[in-house]
Amino acid sequence: MHTKTISALSALLQAKQVSATELANLYLKRIHASPLNAFLDVNDELTLKQAADADAKLAAGNAGPLTGVPIAHKDIFVTKGWRTTAGSKMLANYVSPFDATVVAKLNDAGMVNLGKLNCDEFAMGSANENSAFGPVKNPWDLSAVPGGSSGGSAAAVAARLAPAATATDTGGSIRQPASFCGVTGIKPTYGRVSRYGMIAYASSLDQGGIIAQDAKDCALLLGAIAGFDEKDSTSMDRPVDDYMADLDKPLEGLRIGLPKEYFGDGLSAEVEGPIREAIKVFEKLGATTVEISLKNTDLCIPAYYVIAPAEASSNLSRYDGVRYGFRAEHYTDIQDMYRKSRSQGFGDEVQRRILVGTYVLSHGYYDAYYIQAQRVRRLIANDYKEAFKQCDIIMGPVAPTVAWNLGDRVDDPVANYLSDIFTISTNLAGLPGMSIPCGFGQGEHAKRPVGLQLTGSWFAEAKLLNAANRFQQVTDWHQKAPE
Ligand code: GLN
Repeated sequence: MHTKTISALSALLQAKQVSATELANLYLKRIHASPLNAFLDVNDELTLKQAADADAKLAAGNAGPLTGVPIAHKDIFVTKGWRTTAGSKMLANYVSPFDATVVAKLNDAGMVNLGKLNCDEFAMGSANENSAFGPVKNPWDLSAVPGGSSGGSAAAVAARLAPAATATDTGGSIRQPASFCGVTGIKPTYGRVSRYGMIAYASSLDQGGIIAQDAKDCALLLGAIAGFDEKDSTSMDRPVDDYMADLDKPLEGLRIGLPKEYFGDGLSAEVEGPIREAIKVFEKLGATTVEISLKNTDLCIPAYYVIAPAEASSNLSRYDGVRYGFRAEHYTDIQDMYRKSRSQGFGDEVQRRILVGTYVLSHGYYDAYYIQAQRVRRLIANDYKEAFKQCDIIMGPVAPTVAWNLGDRVDDPVANYLSDIFTISTNLAGLPGMSIPCGFGQGEHAKRPVGLQLTGSWFAEAKLLNAANRFQQVTDWHQKAPE
C-alpha cells in the first residue's frame, strides 16, 4: 500500500477499499520507524483527527479526489497547530496562528497532513546539512546527502514515508533533491503558486511546488495548489490550466533544446550517460532535438549569490528576538539582545548570507553589486526568450554530479553553491522546471539517482507535465524505490 501513488490511493479511498485513518496509521508507523531524520514534527493526534474528518466526508459521499490522501509539508510552510521551524533554532518552538495558502488549499481538498519535513535553515543550502535539527539521510544510500534545501521532502517521498510532499525552490531546492533521491518534482512559474505563509528566503525567487512519485501526481497536486491569491501581491491573476487534460498527448513534433553550456567539462560522465539515454527516449516518442545556447550560464551563480542574500538579509531582519522566535537569555541592553539573539539563533550559513546581503545593499556597493546582478538577471531571462524561439522544452542535467557524501562539503560553501549551476537560472528568469528520475550513477555511486531537468517557458507547466508523463509511461525509473 505504501508504494502507491496519489492517484492510486485516491481510487482506493473512493472505492472504500481503504480508509483515510488506515492510510494515516500506515504512514505514521513508517515515519516513526524511519532512521532518515526527514520529519521535524510528527503529531499522530492531529493527523488522525484530519483522517477521521476525511473518512466522515467519504462516508457522506461529499469527498473530492484528494480527500483522505496523505501528504507532508516542507517546514517552510506555516501550519496552524504544528510547529514550523524553517529548519532554524530561531523558530524552534514557533507555532503559526494561520495556515500558508498552499497548506490551506490542500486541507480544504481533504488531504491529511502527516507532518513537517526537515530542510536547510530558511531553505539555504543544497544538501540539507544546514538544518539546525541535523541532516537528512538519502534513503538510497545512507552515507549520501538527500540534496537540499527540500531534502526532507525528497527523502520522505523516495522512502515512501509519504506519497507526496510540498517543497519550495529558490535556486533548485525542489529539482535538485528530487534528482538526488530519484523522485519527481515540479517548480512552477514564479507567481503561479501563492507564497503567502511560505517563510521568505529570497522573495523574487521563492516558489512553492510539489515532490511526488510521478508526473501525474505532480499534475494532480499542482492543480490543487496553483492559482491567484489576493494575499500574495506577486501571485498571478490568470486561470490555472487543467494539468491532467494533456498528460497523454503524443510528443510528435516536440522540439527539445539542449543547452551546449550544460554538457561541457563540469558535467560528470555518470550523469551525462543517463541524461543522453533519456533524451533518446524522447526522440523515440517523436521529439526532435536542437542545440541551443544559454550563453550567460556562467554568470548565474554570481548573480544569484548577490540577489538571494540581499533579499534574505532584508527578509530575515524580522527575527530580532522581540515579537517571536528565539531570544538570547542574557543581555545588557536592546542592541545586545538583538546581537545575541541573532548570533545564537541563526546558523553559520544564514549569518554568512545576511552579511553578504547587507554588504551588497550598502551605500557605495549597491550599484556595483546589486544593480549589476539585476542586469545580469535580465540577460539570463533574454537568453531563455531567444532559446524558446527554437524549442518547446529545454532539457539537461539537474546537477553536475550525483549526491555527494554526508559531511564532504559542510565546510565548503562554494562547492555547495557551484552544484546549483544548472538550476539557478530557471529561478532568475521565473520559469517552470521539473526533475524526473532517469538512471543511476556508476561504481560506488550505483545507488545514487540521476535526474533529468525539463525547463519550460513561462506558464508552460502543462507541457512539462505532458512530456514527463509520456517519458514515465515508457520507463520505470520513477517506480524504483530504495529497500
Ligand atoms: N542551494 C541554493 C541556495 O542555497 C538554492 C536553495 C533553494 O532553492 N531554496 O540558496
